[in-house]
Amino acid sequence: MAHKFTFYNTLSRKVEEFNPREEGKVSMYTCGPTVYHFAHIGNIRTYIMQDALIKSLGYAGYDVKRVMNITDVGHLSSDADTGEDKMLAGAKREHKTVMEIAKFYTDAFFKDFDAVGNKRPDVVEPATNCIPEFIHMVETLIEKGYAYVAGGNVYFDTSKLQDYYVFSSEVEKEQLQVGVRDDVEEDTNKKNKTDFVLWFTKSKFEDQALKWDSPWGVGYPGWHIECSCISMKHLGEFIDIHCGGVDNIFPHHTNEIAQSESYLGHEWCKYWFHSNHLNDKSGKMSKSKGAVLTVSVLQEKGYDPLVYRFFCLQSHYRKPLEFSYEALDQATQAFNKLVKRVAELKEDGAVDVAAKEKFEESFRDAVSNDLNTSMAITILYDVLKADINDATKLALVESFDSVLSLDLIGHAKGLSEGPDVDPELEMFILDAIERRANAKKAKDFATADAIRAELLEKGVEIKDTREGVKWQLI
Ligand code: AMP
Ligand code: ZN
Repeated sequence: MAHKFTFYNTLSRKVEEFNPREEGKVSMYTCGPTVYHFAHIGNIRTYIMQDALIKSLGYAGYDVKRVMNITDVGHLSSDADTGEDKMLAGAKREHKTVMEIAKFYTDAFFKDFDAVGNKRPDVVEPATNCIPEFIHMVETLIEKGYAYVAGGNVYFDTSKLQDYYVFSSEVEKEQLQVGVRDDVEEDTNKKNKTDFVLWFTKSKFEDQALKWDSPWGVGYPGWHIECSCISMKHLGEFIDIHCGGVDNIFPHHTNEIAQSESYLGHEWCKYWFHSNHLNDKSGKMSKSKGAVLTVSVLQEKGYDPLVYRFFCLQSHYRKPLEFSYEALDQATQAFNKLVKRVAELKEDGAVDVAAKEKFEESFRDAVSNDLNTSMAITILYDVLKADINDATKLALVESFDSVLSLDLIGHAKGLSEGPDVDPELEMFILDAIERRANAKKAKDFATADAIRAELLEKGVEIKDTREGVKWQLI
């Protein structure tokens, strides 16, 4: 029997107990990246939190099968079917073909996806692999009366649904309706403002590079249809959990539900998991803004990608998270201290099974309680402080790392192969660096300077660098 697991279901707008259709098994679908540019660290936050969800479900005893698409066609610069295809814009920008762009950015995406400790989905499917499936679904939707052809394009008729805005409260519905009304680029082919494109033929983008034959003429699919089809291709008529960032709720997921449930004639997915955005001081991070901060860029600056993961896991997936180099520097210090403590643990005898199980239970409770990853990390600290032997602590670090994926033991091994410094002195240094960072944050520069002097007295010199505070013995 799997452990009780709860998380916030956007569909019911509350934290709910999770009950999959099949005992102990989870079918999960994740919206993948649009590969017209690098995935920024905000996108990667979303995939880290989904990875934490999958591994937490695993820790609670569930067997998860996960499918992800790669959007390589049809996602226009506005989610509301207007603007230019993002892939085409990317190809023009870089004087390459759309397929070259797709390959390059898919590879770059997975490089960063892997670097932050994520497990690859069981199935990854590019949208351009599934054109016959899209055409079949669009044909069926027309046959069932949910879709119509106008001006050469095929549209989903949202007026055929009892409740189109499935995720929204009454107030939010009002706001969305106003938003849709205010959409300046009106498409006169649409019967209703909320209708969306299932298949484009006559668009204003005559130079669209990827086109396929279809019953409605040569064209290409709308963005939303791919997720409905790809999930059904690999997971069947029902899925347990559908994941994405909060920006996917409307219109993307709203439209996915509209077309999937109309096609199937029954409820499609019961639980919707959405993680909140990473922002920087200027606001939401966005690929289309141009300069993109990626995990690889952080790595080039000397940051460990797993420190970025640690930074993400310390905050709750439902809260917006603000990125700054200062915050990442602090995470680096805390991470290094953690690794140091793990490196000091010795294989000192038998594991205390009862103590281990007790801590594992607390850890499981934390991650199963609306994915409380910061509490899970607190429990890791509790273990390191606990009155149990080192062998038990090491076993617990390894056990927790099956969810956290911070490679603490690997890092600790790397450390013990480094220069030999008295462990107590090193602990003192790391602690002093943290106290100094806190003092600086509180604008208490006198204390910060005093800590620097205190370290110098012990023969330790510190330097503030882009990669965080570095120290050396002098
Ligand atoms: P995209 O490649 O733009 O389709 O986005 C890939 C994933 O990243 C989607 O699930 C988005 O919801 C998510 N996402 C987009 N912007 C952010 C952000 N600033 N922070 C976190 N996740 C984001
Ligand atoms: Zn999707």
